[in-house]
Amino acid sequence: MSCRMEQSQLDLATWTRIFQDEASGLLRGHYWCLEFDYSIETTNSWNDWKEYIRNTSARFRCTDCGRTWPSNQVKVVFHMRLIGTMGTVKIRPYRQNCKVCTTAPMGNPSIEESNIKVLMENLVKKIRIKCYHEKLDEGRHYFKAYDVESPHEPSHCEACLKGICNQ
Ligand SMILES: [Zn+2]
Ligand SMILES: [Zn+2]
Repeated sequence: MSCRMEQSQLDLATWTRIFQDEASGLLRGHYWCLEFDYSIETTNSWNDWKEYIRNTSARFRCTDCGRTWPSNQVKVVFHMRLIGTMGTVKIRPYRQNCKVCTTAPMGNPSIEESNIKVLMENLVKKIRIKCYHEKLDEGRHYFKAYDVESPHEPSHCEACLKGICNQ
């Protein structure tokens, strides 16, 4: 069995590889697939989908002027569901855009592998708690932060615009 990879993002292959490493031996041999989905919204009313929101750090690059900036306020939303022995995780990394260019599109965060690993460690633990009802402590792993000199820009952060950045 293999996961759909039509999104063919290199990124997704990296996230999936790290997830499978972290999940190894912990999810009862069940098959879990990851996919990016930029349409999922946060909500409290779920049926079989469970929600998990984490913060991480990332770098962004403006496609208009080439400017880059680091951010320690990058929200990633996960929706996870287990049906039988098939698990699915939808991932939405929230985007930011350039504060200098007025029409710059929102850009995806570029997250270092070490921080993807931290996200996946936390995600696997959350899946064990929420989908397998294991009684684990809520302790979590922390991402590596960047030195960020300028303040967070709510009007250039998709998660702020959605009202979930400071949750
Ligand atoms: Zn720019
Ligand atoms: Zn924000």
